[in-house]
Amino acid sequence: MQSSTYAIALGSNRRGRHGGPVAEVRAAIAALDGVVATSPIIGSAPLGPSIRRFANAAVLLESALTPPQMLARLKAIERSFGRRRGARWGARVIDLDIVLWSGGMWSTAGLTVPHIAFRERGFVLDPLRTIAPDWRDPVAGRTVRQLHARLNKPQPLG
Ligand code: ATP
Ligand code: CA
Ligand code: CA
Repeated sequence: MQSSTYAIALGSNRRGRHGGPVAEVRAAIAALDGVVATSPIIGSAPLGPSIRRFANAAVLLESALTPPQMLARLKAIERSFGRRRGARWGARVIDLDIVLWSGGMWSTAGLTVPHIAFRERGFVLDPLRTIAPDWRDPVAGRTVRQLHARLNKPQPLG
């Protein structure tokens, strides 16, 4: 397959062998091949005793892999970072999602691109906007910049 561009979202809210969430995200970026742009890593301090610190980032990468091949590669990295199924409260040492693909839309069992929920997630759109503001979501027809502005706009009541 010809080379295409992927936008990948990274997240961590659990310590792993590289360190805390920020170190895990940094290590996952280093483990990805073909990275051409990297957002800042956005971290947050714990808000309360039961809420974990988290870190998020987004990268763009060039790859000849098909979307299912890319997902398999991302899952292999997650496993190599020690991610386990069924962790409490969704705590995971690393989460790697395909957000956008330059090929457009993809939908097969277990894989939907664009990612089904990214338009409603500040922790995806905040970092993604820093590296791909003009990328147009093929489903909503809006750019990442527009999706971000929309998400952050106060909604009228009633
Ligand atoms: P969310 O999808 O809401 O971000 P999550 O990332 O916590 O949730 P996981 O347990 O990591 O959920 O993934 C569940 C499944 O979602 C994966 O096994 C994968 O098959 C599927 N999936 C579907 N579309 C995508 C995508 N665009 N990127 C990554 N995984 C996807
Ligand atoms: Ca996710
Ligand atoms: Ca995931």
